[in-house]
Amino acid sequence: MTRHALETLAVHAGRIQPSIAGALATPIFQTSTFGHSGDGDYDEVRYTRLSNGPNQLALGRKLAALTGAEAAVATASGMAAITTTLLAHVKAGERVLFQSGLYGGTHMLATEDLPRMGIAADFAPGDDPARWREAVRPNTKVIYVEAISNPLVKVLDLHAVVRLAREVGALTVIDATFASPVNLRPMELGFDLEVHSATKYLNGHSDLIAGAVCGRAPLLQAVVHTLNHLGGSLDPHACFLLERGLKTLPLRVRQQNQNALALARFFAARPDVAAVHYPGLDRAKLPAAIADAFAGFGGVLSVELASASDAAERADRVLRSLALATHAPSLGGPETLVTRPATTSHAGLPPAERRALGIADGLVRIACGIEDAGDLIADFAQALDRNPG
Ligand SMILES: *Cc1c(COP(=O)(O)O)cnc(C)c1O
Repeated sequence: MTRHALETLAVHAGRIQPSIAGALATPIFQTSTFGHSGDGDYDEVRYTRLSNGPNQLALGRKLAALTGAEAAVATASGMAAITTTLLAHVKAGERVLFQSGLYGGTHMLATEDLPRMGIAADFAPGDDPARWREAVRPNTKVIYVEAISNPLVKVLDLHAVVRLAREVGALTVIDATFASPVNLRPMELGFDLEVHSATKYLNGHSDLIAGAVCGRAPLLQAVVHTLNHLGGSLDPHACFLLERGLKTLPLRVRQQNQNALALARFFAARPDVAAVHYPGLDRAKLPAAIADAFAGFGGVLSVELASASDAAERADRVLRSLALATHAPSLGGPETLVTRPATTSHAGLPPAERRALGIADGLVRIACGIEDAGDLIADFAQALDRNPG
């Protein structure tokens, strides 16, 4: 299957062959346990928590094919993918070097849970490669980055991250949720392990919570071993839904790329919008190492609204005036969602720290769905016009 294009793999890769009773879709094996002959060892026991049921295995094969990884496993959530991956590969006394400005759940894991287990977290800003080298210590075991930052949609030089990790003998882990396999190929860039919140683009239908870990076979095997103990396996029905969602991944993400670019251009042309954050808006300005790594930049963009008095207040009024876009966290589903990060994902930070990260109070994050770009632009245009700066 590896010689086929992503579109073909999305449809065909991983399915059970020969198919059961001719079924095109993988039937749901809604069972906790499987009959066992009594001979053989523990590894031959089939039990759904061990991620070795037919739905889990078929999904793992499809995820591996889509990311170009040697092996992959689905998990109960994106956070289960991240926690299990780190706990499988880092032990007490070792350190993890994280990109600063992480996804909230990962930030809490790094700053609260890992230190309690004797694992230290260091941070370096994504846009300053020199600081990465300074932040590496002799016992830095993993370098962990996010493909596209939230909510400012910043992209870093991933080649430089891989080079540094190889020099210092650290493993590389990338959270590629915001890029999806359509826009970024971390395995081809040399990353060791790739994690996803499959809740977002991979499933793409806003109807389940799941995660994925993909990577080199021996590293992935260690993750599955730890997953068996921590228990974050994905249930067969959710596996079925995720496998179905994956079949349309390339179609959906391409539409989301186009919608985000069209909206970014629309906002950039409005005098009542102070700033637009979307790397695709001016691709020529990106360093070549970054531009070459990304086929597209995904469906998320953010904008700072202009206001003579109170940009945050104007942002709230604009969000309330939208008819198509829904005020909700998350991304990657069919529906366009909007949030104001200062009151949602980054509400926990002191205002000064938030501003230091570049997150203005009037910043609005838009996670494009797969609707028509013209309809989305019309919705934002009427909301801005009704609430002038
Ligand atoms: C949503 C998200 C997560 C967490 O995923 P869940 O499926 O909600 O557990 C991790 N990383 C990123 C970048 C995310 O957007």
